[in-house]
Amino acid sequence: MKIDSSEIASLIKAQIKGYEQELKEDDVGTVISVGDGIALCYGLNNAMLGELLIFPHDVYGMVMNLDTEDVGCVLLGSDYEILEGDTVKRTHKVVEVPVGDGLLGRVVNALGQPIDEMGKIEYSKTRPVERIAPGVMTRKSVDTPLETGIKAIDAMIPIGRGQRELIIGDRQTGKTAIALDAIINQKGKNVKCVYVAIGQKNSSVASIVEKLKEKQCMDYVTVVSSSASESAPLQYLAPFAGMAMAEEWMENGQDVLIVFDDLSKHAVAYRTLSLLLKRSPGREAYPGDIFYLHSRLLERACRLNKDYGGGSITALPIVETQAGDISAYIPTNIISITDGQIFLLVDYFNAGQRPAIDSGFSVSRVGSSAQVKAMKEVAKGLKIDLANYNEMLSFSQFGSDLDKETKKVLTHGKILMEVLKQKQYATCSMERQVIELYAVKNGFLDDLETKDVHPFLDGCYSAIKAKHPEIIASLIEKKAFDDATRDALKAAVADFKEGFKA
Ligand code: ATP
Ligand code: MG
Repeated sequence: MKIDSSEIASLIKAQIKGYEQELKEDDVGTVISVGDGIALCYGLNNAMLGELLIFPHDVYGMVMNLDTEDVGCVLLGSDYEILEGDTVKRTHKVVEVPVGDGLLGRVVNALGQPIDEMGKIEYSKTRPVERIAPGVMTRKSVDTPLETGIKAIDAMIPIGRGQRELIIGDRQTGKTAIALDAIINQKGKNVKCVYVAIGQKNSSVASIVEKLKEKQCMDYVTVVSSSASESAPLQYLAPFAGMAMAEEWMENGQDVLIVFDDLSKHAVAYRTLSLLLKRSPGREAYPGDIFYLHSRLLERACRLNKDYGGGSITALPIVETQAGDISAYIPTNIISITDGQIFLLVDYFNAGQRPAIDSGFSVSRVGSSAQVKAMKEVAKGLKIDLANYNEMLSFSQFGSDLDKETKKVLTHGKILMEVLKQKQYATCSMERQVIELYAVKNGFLDDLETKDVHPFLDGCYSAIKAKHPEIIASLIEKKAFDDATRDALKAAVADFKEGFKA
């Protein structure tokens, strides 16, 4: 069969015509310049803000700047092989991550891709990383406690499901430890957890995952990691990706706890990005929208009302301070966005008062409405007692002659501080906390040496568990004291004390 050359020409012509149609002029562009993970592109007239672009070698980029002449875009992969003049295509999609139960027990990067060598992630749905926070009419105020298992927090700075509570302190003051304990304490409580590591060492993230595995908690946890070695755009995306994953569960009526460790590093990553994109720097060289960056992230944590499934996202953002300065730019921003803060003190930490929570500076603005009645009863006045103690402590350093009243405040305060000491990974159930705090509040420990405080508490709880299980059962069931239980508890503690002294 002979082929007519004009036929071939017309075929090619037709194909080229189709090709042009497929790739509209506005959907392809050219790279003008590339470097530091930022690419400037020409063309792409219809590109959307936040849209995903494809560069050669399967590198993805995200549109961050729409200028009159060019489009500024951050690369979500290596910029090594991308050259000036390369073609870049639109995808008509914003950045999305996989969501759903397939992510439980997994460690993923900021794009939701697995990095734990456990194979592909099973998912049937993706969600955009950026989304407008649920509106006021869909929300409900917090009314269910999120128990962290840490006495000082559950008693004095209670957290409710759907709350945003900041953990703030200098480096190495036990910030991560608190968040990790809170995650571990959710075991069996039907709360899914997302731990987002931003700008941390890979080894730190690995040891956290290891610990969660050891405690058999990974089956309800997803770890999103964007380590210090990854590019700024990925570190910037990580908390949003984690939030998108949490939202899926929340919208299915479930409770989620999300930890951002930490947002100071996130702010630094965003500052890097913004400066490279030539956005004008503001205070401390952060861009003008740094507040909006964190507020739009944290506003997505909330409690939905019944009509919307009743799910919740509780957020525990972490912020690192320099020399305890909570009035720096990022700390003040995030303090004003959240519903309270847990402030950690270096001096406490170094003196062995761990968790190093400063009860004076720490607050929970909404959580007390979620505290169970029994806890409310025994925790009442705790903060004031500690405040009095701290005040008297500085006083007592001047004079040696102390009156009886002052001495009483000092001994009670000292015992209280000792009771609030808690080891890492030793979370405490609600009923045990209530019993311990009941004993301190009613002065059963005031005549003990500090070294005897923890043996007393341990022994007392074991004795009650063995001899009076009905007290514990009643506290678990009713979550409040009735007169009979209160009397029984008083008698049981007094009884134990008799034996303890002997
Ligand atoms: P970084 O600023 O490096 O992130 P961080 O503030 O998150 O530090 P952690 O890593 O949580 O601090 O804790 C620092 C060290 O203190 C760890 O070795 C941890 O095991 C220890 N630690 C934390 N909390 C306690 C505690 N309650 N009891 C005993 N040790 C603790
Ligand atoms: Mg940490």
